[in-house]
Amino acid sequence: MSRKRNHGRVSFNPIVSEKHLENGLSEEEEEEAEEVEEEEVEVAKELEMESGSADEAEQDETPTLTPQEARALASRFKQMVKAKGTGFKKGDIILVRPDRVPKKKLNPELLWKARVIEPRKDQAGKVYLGIHWFYSAEQTSALNLPRKVKFNPHLVCGKHELIETTHEDIISREDFVSPLAVHQLTDDPEQEEIEDGTWYTRAYYNVKSNAFTKMTTAPCTICKGYYRPESGKEKDEQAYCPKCHKWYHHICLDEKGLHQSQDECEEDLTRRLARNIPEPTSQPPAKRSRNNTVPKSTTSPTRRAPQGAELRAQKDLRRIAGTRIVRGATFGITGTVKQIYTARRMLSELESGVISRLSSTGWKEEIGVQLVEDSKDWPESTEFCYICPNCPGRQAI
Ligand SMILES: [Zn+2]
Ligand SMILES: [Zn+2]
Repeated sequence: MSRKRNHGRVSFNPIVSEKHLENGLSEEEEEEAEEVEEEEVEVAKELEMESGSADEAEQDETPTLTPQEARALASRFKQMVKAKGTGFKKGDIILVRPDRVPKKKLNPELLWKARVIEPRKDQAGKVYLGIHWFYSAEQTSALNLPRKVKFNPHLVCGKHELIETTHEDIISREDFVSPLAVHQLTDDPEQEEIEDGTWYTRAYYNVKSNAFTKMTTAPCTICKGYYRPESGKEKDEQAYCPKCHKWYHHICLDEKGLHQSQDECEEDLTRRLARNIPEPTSQPPAKRSRNNTVPKSTTSPTRRAPQGAELRAQKDLRRIAGTRIVRGATFGITGTVKQIYTARRMLSELESGVISRLSSTGWKEEIGVQLVEDSKDWPESTEFCYICPNCPGRQAI
């Protein structure tokens, strides 16, 4: 029996094993793991459905290589020439067709994800790609992770979260489906917005050391737990401190009594928060265009009190700037950090005279028109704020 195509791929089974249940989880963790388990069964069923009947699958099946065939391909790949003009380059992130799934029945959620390390061509001109796989949380079940792993993908990762790995493989061009955009989730205030349903990553799995490295979000210093971006649960919401650039769970701050109500505070909390200008982090803030703000007037030395539309705009800006910076649950994966960060900087520039007034619409676009509209329903003044557990002087966050 001859195979129609030899795609060249080591078997990488996306369907999970039971291993992670042997990891000695707490009761709550077990409950959560069960939830994950149920989802995995669904995925497995879906994959089966996607593969269609045996007859149909035979028409368009990718055979999985035996270990010997995979080794042969790996040594053949070493002898191939590095290829230019293939449309692939180092660093590209791509969707890959899984084994057993007919090409015409592809469900984007179930496709495999990989980073191109090196495109090469064999003597016949056929393109092969050296790749590193991305894992989903479910796929990490096949790993033999330490019992007390700090970053447990099953408990922490969102549905669209990918873990980049050093797991090497070789695929043929025919397994390539399309390019894929993957965002980087960080703790940075300049974090680009990651919309629900888009792919993102923050952890890197090193096969050799069997460990997650190069994490781009840090654990909450109170509970040592990592941020859970897509849990949708209130208990996973976090508040941001613009001074120490760290995120803390609301419930952890509550448990430590680290909050301050308006009654306990000598000054207006909205103003106090609005003054909280985030200091630049290691990455310099993106240069903002000045086109949508009116430049400072050089002819009139005295500033007139704002009126009408300008007064309303400044009130809105002050209210947004005086809101706590949050992420998680209903606030979304990346939360409000970028918008409120922008509002605070803008307010600071307005108060220090760097800009003399807000234009009628441009400032809204800079912050995000939707957020500005939503903010009209927010209370005029902040009722309470949290206190940073890390910064001196009861830093309001
Ligand atoms: Zn915490
Ligand atoms: Zn702090």
